[in-house]
Parts: sequence; structure tokens; C-alpha cells
Amino acid sequence: MDSRDRTTGSDPTADLRAFLDAAPSPFHAAAEVARRLTATGSTEVPADSTPSGPAATRGHTVVDGAVIAWVSNADGPPSGFDIAGAHTDSPGLRVRPRPDLTSDGWHLLGVEVYGGILNNSWLDRDLGIAGRIVDREGRSTLVDIREPIARVPQLAVHLDRGVNDGLVLDRERHLRPVWASDDDAAGFAAWLAERTGVKPEWWELCLVDVQPASVIGADGSLLASGRLDNLLSCWALTDALTEATPAPGRIAVMVLNDHEEVGSASATGAAGPLLERALTRLIAAHATGDTNVPTALADALAGSMCVSADNAHALHPNYPDRHERSHAPLVNRGPAVKVNVNQRYATTAISARRFTTACEAAGVPWQVFSSRNDVPCGSTIGPITATRLGIDTVDVGVPQLSMHSARELCGVDDPVYLRAAMAAYWSGSGT
Ligand code: ZN
Repeated sequence: MDSRDRTTGSDPTADLRAFLDAAPSPFHAAAEVARRLTATGSTEVPADSTPSGPAATRGHTVVDGAVIAWVSNADGPPSGFDIAGAHTDSPGLRVRPRPDLTSDGWHLLGVEVYGGILNNSWLDRDLGIAGRIVDREGRSTLVDIREPIARVPQLAVHLDRGVNDGLVLDRERHLRPVWASDDDAAGFAAWLAERTGVKPEWWELCLVDVQPASVIGADGSLLASGRLDNLLSCWALTDALTEATPAPGRIAVMVLNDHEEVGSASATGAAGPLLERALTRLIAAHATGDTNVPTALADALAGSMCVSADNAHALHPNYPDRHERSHAPLVNRGPAVKVNVNQRYATTAISARRFTTACEAAGVPWQVFSSRNDVPCGSTIGPITATRLGIDTVDVGVPQLSMHSARELCGVDDPVYLRAAMAAYWSGSGT
């Protein structure tokens, strides 16, 4: 398949860029995914309900910053689930509960670092604020103030002559954004109430680079944006699921977890019970008269598979020595299968073949990532989901540069390739 018309320069990423810009926080990502699913015929099911009627065939549930969605082609208990997962969260700066700080005439925002950010990437960017606020009555409101209201100013080179020999940033002292300089500037809560019309009691708010996602490169072959890790995969999976036609007796399931960047141990993270609970409800929704739900779930899990999609490190042209050269993916050459024998990735030979067969059915090229023994790789939701459910799992991902920067970089073709591969996987290729 050729995802991009290089002669006309058509942009395959327009819809992905719209998704990235619509999802400045995990809560927005979950809401945008739900909006897209609903628009394509899926029914939203409350988290405390077992799906029935049309929702048992095509439905989704949103819990905070997480989403689970399914498409069923099973009349009774399924022979298995074809699962794919990604994560909605990204490393960044979050506004503290009591953020008002002043220092020598400046008003600063107290922030807490979320996940493994590249500290320097947050310097000298125009930052807005997005997330959710909860009022005294418990009502939750999504907030997206995409205006340049804050900035983490870097120290001038004249005041730090050694900076270019190695920038050292203290995460507590040096990442505080300035956001006002008038003596009588409002406090954060008052400003937020004035801007949103809601008196906030509590909040979960991210600082967000206001620069929208952009296609860059003289040949228009690259995509720059915040949160490519891992909204790119959320987009590809969501779009693929809307096209999925599962094999008879199978249920296609998408799980988008929050909190992957901080270890996944949370109510909506991959280490929590969210997915297993949803699968139990799907078994109950497909139960016939003599179905024993726990046994039918165990049977279905034994015949299930999971694709964990999270971005991979592309070969960095300025640091080629950091890569194992036979296993260093390139941009715009297709998604990478991520292998780590120490189980930082869950990929097995069996699960890898299933995914690469789906790629080949879709005409999608694929690559392999394996890290150097002296440069250990990260991890993701794949091993956690495999451990929780005991199902064969493959870790895959689109190659990118600048992972965990406030603004990351990938190729324009690879997200489209991943989407096509996932549509083939969910339609039974490779089984
Ligand atoms: Zn990730």
C-alpha cells in the first residue's frame, strides 16, 4: 500500500493532526475517541452496566482518561478476544492543587512533573492549560484553554556560561512556569473560574504547548506534535476498529489505558482491573442459557491475543551508536515489532507472526526493534496486560524521534500503515 501521494503532496495525517490537537489531556483523548466511535455507530455503555442490544455488538465505555471499545461477531460466548491496546497519557507538567507562587515580582505556577519528560523540551514554549475540573457538587468539566498563558523561561547564556557543555535543570526549582507579572494578578483558582464559568474545587490539569501538530520537512514526510507517544496509536486503533469485521465467533476489543507513563498501576491503568472487568461483561452479554461466565471467560482468554501499540525509537541520525544497527527502525518504513527477551516487551514468536501476517495482508511494511545490551529499552502496557490476563501479546509501535519531548517527531506514512495493519488484524488476518 502507498499511503501518501508524493507527487501531489496529499497529507494522510490531516485526521491524525485533528485528533492530536483535540486531545491535550488523557480526559480529552478519551472523550475524542468516544465521540469518534459514537459517530460511527458505537453505543456508549456506562461503566457499571453490562452491554445489551446493539451495544453488545458495537459499544464502548469511558472511565476518566481510559476507553474500552468492542466490535463483536459472536452469537454466543466468543472463542476469543482480539485485543489491541495503547495509552492516552503523555509525560508533561501538571498544575499542583495549590499552585500560586510568587518570586521577586513574578507569579509562577507550582507544577508536578508527570512521567519521564525531557526537561529541556519544556523550556521557552508558549503553554496553555487543559484537563478537567471538578466543582463542589462533584460535576466534572473538561477544560481546554489553548492560549499562551505560561512559559518556563530558560536562563540566558550570559548567566550560565557553561550551559552548552551540559544543561542541568532541577525539576523542582527550574521548571516552574511564569504566568503573570502584575502585582494584582488573580490567583490560579480565581482565574480558572473566570475563564471557565465553573468554580473549581479540584483539578487535574496539564500544561500544553499551544503549537498545533504540523507536517514538516522539505518533502512533507514528517509529522511534529506533542503527545505522538501515544496518541498516534490511539488514533490508529480507533480508526481501525471502526472498519473492523471480526471473524465469526470473535470479539475485537480496543483498550486505551491512562497512566502508562507512570507505571500503569491505577484504576484506569493497564495494571488495574479495567480490561478484565470489561471482558467479563462481554462474556455476560454473550451468555446463553447454560453459560458459566467465569469458565467461558477463561476459555475465551485461552484463545485470545493482544497487540500492544506504543511508539518505538527510530534510528537517530545524530546518535546512530545508540542503536543496535540490525534492529533500528527507520521512519516511513512501517511499524516495528518490539522484541526484548527480558520481557520489557511481551512479544513472542507466535504473536509476532500474527502481527506481521496482518501487516502483509494489508500491504504494510514492517520492521524490528531490539535495543543494545548497554542501552536498555523502556517498557509499555504489553507485558502488563500479558501478565494480568495470561494471553499471547505482541508489542509493536511506530518509529519516532524525540520520545518524551514536549514536541515529538515521526513519519507521515507510519501512522497510516499502523491503522491498516490493525484493521487487518481485527478482521482476522494471521489467525
Ligand atoms: Zn508510550
